[in-house]
Amino acid sequence: MTNLPRIAVIGTGGTISGVGRDRLDFYEYGTSGRFMHVDELIAGVPELARVADVVPIGYKNVGSTEIGPSDWLALLRIINKTVADDPSVAGIVVTHGTATLEETAYFLNLAVKVPVPVVVVGAMRPSSALGADGGNNLLNGARVAGSAQAKGMGVMVVLNDEINAARDVAKTSNYRVQTFVSRDFGMLGYADADSVKFYRRPLRVAAPETEFDVAELSELPRVDIVPAYAGADATFVEAAVAAGAKGIVSAGFPSGSPSPAQKAALKQAARAGIVVVQSSRSGSGRVIDDKVALREAGFVAADSLTPQKARILLMMALTVSSDTNEIRRMFDTY
Ligand code: ASP
Repeated sequence: MTNLPRIAVIGTGGTISGVGRDRLDFYEYGTSGRFMHVDELIAGVPELARVADVVPIGYKNVGSTEIGPSDWLALLRIINKTVADDPSVAGIVVTHGTATLEETAYFLNLAVKVPVPVVVVGAMRPSSALGADGGNNLLNGARVAGSAQAKGMGVMVVLNDEINAARDVAKTSNYRVQTFVSRDFGMLGYADADSVKFYRRPLRVAAPETEFDVAELSELPRVDIVPAYAGADATFVEAAVAAGAKGIVSAGFPSGSPSPAQKAALKQAARAGIVVVQSSRSGSGRVIDDKVALREAGFVAADSLTPQKARILLMMALTVSSDTNEIRRMFDTY
């Protein structure tokens, strides 16, 4: 029996558990395909025992480019079951590859119903590398998940001693350890060696208070992202429609518009009942719910969500409604 918070650590793979050839293998380790099981990962950070009573839960051992919506639903069920089976669990940490970490985190931020903090952590250097950052990120993730102030913050992402909200954070650099940044809104706080400190609270509605109830679903509605680029024709819009998309997110030119050919095809898709969300590829700022450019075309504005986050909110929204006004309300809420 211990007074430390009981923290469940769910392993999914990623660089944080990756093992390279030697200490200078910073980018080829993925090809070895060797990932530590979550037990091994935890055993490699004995300091965890000072901050938490850790319960390891293995889910998968894959690079996160392999993680998708069916994994999100499986993780959601694991989180729900873990807390239902053991109500003394005070927090959840998910270890994850950084490639899709922000997507899994935002899905959980919209889907999780448990009353305890959920933190997603990763690493930019494999566990075997010089200056590996995963051990500290895992330790900090457990400290944040066990902290009383973490309640009401929604799902959080913790790397590089920084706590970010799942909604706002993005991976902004391919190799730097300071890659996870909430560009427009800033981090929520620090996980410093002496203490965990929060400075602000997200205002957008987040887990466990959302209206989405997807734990029993076997899949989410298909939503595709269509990138805008100079001279783009309608090919990718038509491909999304042909693939059966229920929604399409346009990753538009800043401040939020597709090419003319894409726009014509997207308008046709909207008329056929496919929900079209207009986002921007810039990674900063709002797409404004413009009466002429967007409303008349029947599109929904993504507000300040990146295309990949707008896709996730649209997938969730479509489990509740396909009415564009209802979906506009959701983009104004989450
Ligand atoms: N390729 C890795 C992954 O996403 C990158 C990382 O974890 O940093 O699994």
